[in-house]
Amino acid sequence: MSDILMKLHGNRLAAPLARALGLPKPVKLARAAGGYEARPFEGKSALLCAAAGGYAAAALRGVLEEAGAAVLAAPPDDERWQAAIVVMDATGCRAPADYRALYDAFHPVMRRMARNGRVLVLAPLHQAGGDPVQAAVARGVEGFSRSLGKELGRKGVCVNTAYAAADALDRLAGVVRFFCGAQSTYVSGQAVRVTARVAAPASAAPAAPRQVQVLAGKTALVTGGARGIGKAIVERLSQEGARVICLDVAGAAEEMRSTCAQYGAMPLSLDITAPGAPARLADFLRSEGGGVDILVHNAGVTRDRTLSNMQPQEWDLVVNVNFAAIAAIDAELLSRGLLREQGRIVYLSSISGVAGNFGQTNYAATKAALIGYAAAQAPLLAPRGICVNAIAPGFIETAMTAKLPFFTREVGSRLNALMQAGQPRDAAELVAFLSSPGACGVSGETIRVCGQGVMGA
Ligand code: NAD
Repeated sequence: MSDILMKLHGNRLAAPLARALGLPKPVKLARAAGGYEARPFEGKSALLCAAAGGYAAAALRGVLEEAGAAVLAAPPDDERWQAAIVVMDATGCRAPADYRALYDAFHPVMRRMARNGRVLVLAPLHQAGGDPVQAAVARGVEGFSRSLGKELGRKGVCVNTAYAAADALDRLAGVVRFFCGAQSTYVSGQAVRVTARVAAPASAAPAAPRQVQVLAGKTALVTGGARGIGKAIVERLSQEGARVICLDVAGAAEEMRSTCAQYGAMPLSLDITAPGAPARLADFLRSEGGGVDILVHNAGVTRDRTLSNMQPQEWDLVVNVNFAAIAAIDAELLSRGLLREQGRIVYLSSISGVAGNFGQTNYAATKAALIGYAAAQAPLLAPRGICVNAIAPGFIETAMTAKLPFFTREVGSRLNALMQAGQPRDAAELVAFLSSPGACGVSGETIRVCGQGVMGA
């Protein structure tokens, strides 16, 4: 679907009217097409700023240089220079006066940010029971970067925060590469905790940042993979070298055939709510190589209606597909040891699960449940090196959102800092990151891919 506002502003005759009416002018977002690169920031400069007394700057410098960036400590005098990547080590912010370092770092570059630039701010990870003022100051760093995202969104710049534990600096590489790279289009205003809680692999370093095809040798299962976001996830995981099993209902057979042929995935026709579905899936995985490394619970449905008008079968269907079947599948696969060590689980939640939504009591209940489920599963599976996370898409252009009336669709897709809808690829990039070895410091989190939507923000 083409963006109507971009079309108007790009049309010689219509543009003056669009400007006179004050219609927002969304920027064309840059998106990666291929898989991860060994040195994705080659040819780019990265501005690395730091508040005094922080602990992450040296690690950040190493990660940025390894990714190919020329690291600068201050903006150069050259007036043509624009900031494509800005990373701020704010782990030294412990008292309100330390915020001044944020002002000093960002004030000089606000007008010099490049279109589609990236900003990542590292905040100290507060330990429960610690100094309340330090905790508050750390949280304030998140407020700062969320506001920065809103100011810079019109340039397509994404701004995110990472709360980094001091003992998890060796797990920053994947996080920096994702949030400062072309893959994080439409992920803005987010805060993610990076910790060493999940057990690292016994043999190798936790992340393999120089590796391309980071999922080579892994098997992934994507439910609802025939179309929409699921199809983009199948594509993205295949690009990274994973062997992908694409599960969908028999009614989607045609789309599934085409998706599997396109990306070399293995089809599995199954309704996840059918009686005995978890056991059938488990048997299939056992016979096909003995298990999976990556489990993406993407299948989901809507039956939108106000609660007063909702039929019980609409309620039950949404609860069964979006949550009950997922919990049943996880229980079966985990009890039969079919999710391998160092595995990954990703749930497709929704911003409706974060904020609630009119006419979506059933859907929002299930999507919020997935947020709680990821947080509760994470510590249980951490000793086995398994990371469990959820993503919460905002307005993504798929068959699901195409069903909405024009006006609802237009408004829904504009209410974010980037003033446009996201693409299935954007959600798939976030899933690919959370499925990768580089996400070994991230577990129990819910990350929104919503262009920093105003809903629930
Ligand atoms: P979609 O309707 O285009 O695709 C969903 C897929 O799930 C379909 O292929 C469908 O056949 C499959 N599916 C449905 N019920 C199933 C079942 N019982 N067993 C197996 N497969 C089943 O939806 P989408 O927009 O691609 O959404 C994918 C996920 O992202 C969903 O969980 C959705 O709730 C979530 N999400 C989407 C958006 C958005 O804007 N598109 C926003 C927030 C969350």
